[in-house]
Amino acid sequence: MIRHHPAEASLIACAAGTMPTAHARVIEVHAARCPVCAAGLRAAEAAGGALLDALAPAPMAPDALARALARLDTAAPEPAHRAPAFDLAALASGRWRRVAPGIAMMKLLPRDATDSRLDLIRVAPGRALLTHGHTGPERTCVLTGAFADGSGLYAAGDCVEADAALDHAPRALPGEDCVCLIATTHHLRPHGWLGRLVRPLLGM
Ligand SMILES: [Zn+2]
Repeated sequence: MIRHHPAEASLIACAAGTMPTAHARVIEVHAARCPVCAAGLRAAEAAGGALLDALAPAPMAPDALARALARLDTAAPEPAHRAPAFDLAALASGRWRRVAPGIAMMKLLPRDATDSRLDLIRVAPGRALLTHGHTGPERTCVLTGAFADGSGLYAAGDCVEADAALDHAPRALPGEDCVCLIATTHHLRPHGWLGRLVRPLLGM
């Protein structure tokens, strides 16, 4: 059961296309598993479209109504869940890179102009990441397994949003590997000499 969702403002930014691609991907993957957020995204998209229509009145072509009606006839039925705008399985066919005992990463989207990147991270049961903070927002969607940090417990499907204020040391729960889709902007801020030593390995 999904317990953690992106904020409403995040759904709106995702629908409006004003969010870095890496972060939007995390929300889309969550929404593909979460009917509540899928509906929220559709509502935000519809509201955005209505707003644009209101802002920019344009003269209608004489045959606009006929064409709109024709489109209705051929329109595909709305899927029950919003499908992700990209194929995660295909994207995730890359190579796992071991970054620490029990921890591996796969780069999905390289750092872009907004200084954001998208990665998969796989943490063996019981393993923890070093305590770290952030210098920008971080969004995570749990794909398999579960992890906990000081702020809560997150299981498959959950979406976790963290800002620069959060310091945490996520630990995978016993059972299966915890695989997460994670978007980060700017860099992690590791604590202690070990973290500073490891950060270049993570590339984050
Ligand atoms: Zn949701």
